[in-house]
Amino acid sequence: MPSESYVITIYSDRQKGLIQAVPEVLSQAHHSYCMRHLTANFYSEFKDVLLKRLFWRAARTLRESVFKDTMDQIKARNENAHKWISAIPKESWASFYFTGDRYDVITTNRSKLLNAFLKNARKLLIASLVEHTRWTRWKTSDFFQKRRVYGDEWRTQLTNYAEKHIRLAKEESLQYVAYRVGLHVFEVRSVQIQDSVNLHLQTCSCRVFQTIGLPCGHAMAAIAITKEKNLYSFCKPCYKVDRYRQTYDEVLYPTLDRT
Ligand SMILES: [Zn+2]
Repeated sequence: MPSESYVITIYSDRQKGLIQAVPEVLSQAHHSYCMRHLTANFYSEFKDVLLKRLFWRAARTLRESVFKDTMDQIKARNENAHKWISAIPKESWASFYFTGDRYDVITTNRSKLLNAFLKNARKLLIASLVEHTRWTRWKTSDFFQKRRVYGDEWRTQLTNYAEKHIRLAKEESLQYVAYRVGLHVFEVRSVQIQDSVNLHLQTCSCRVFQTIGLPCGHAMAAIAITKEKNLYSFCKPCYKVDRYRQTYDEVLYPTLDRT
């Protein structure tokens, strides 16, 4: 079974300093460009909603054939738009080519909340800055506390997101027929396409299994014809409720006034 990866992924808005600094300072890190920022720049340049949608599809797909087909559609509609996109290394934005772990997250939206806490503090004078820092600690503490409450309420093995994914993948698997073609390898057929699943490596040719660390519909169809009853052994440990609780377990203690 694949072990957990601890190589970090940096998300950024493609700020020039970061493009140079990430490979120098964090040579092992994978640098992912935020698609929200990229598409905003792209749209301000080409003002075409359909092109923007196609750009998102190219970024989101985990199938190479869909990526290439979408890029061809962009080129057919606007060659300059295709050139604009092609000038950005695809390993930094297109999910199919991204080699790190980013769990299908392609924007910096989730960090915006924390960024917003500090955004207005830059121009403050020292006394106000100290006050603002206290407020930021309080907000962060509140952020942790709310997640401790969520974590305590869950009675499932996995987080809500992962349990929902498993439920939908199970439903999807009903349209597939799986055949074992090797000790760990399965061929999974549907009306349109056939995929290959390796349950030992936890991979699928659709790339959902290895990208998000949870079984896709194809993997579910494969698991269903084995004697394996524990679905959770095919899910990355980071989705376990215990892990979620550990993440938010630390207490941010207040800094008390000195007299
Ligand atoms: Zn799959």
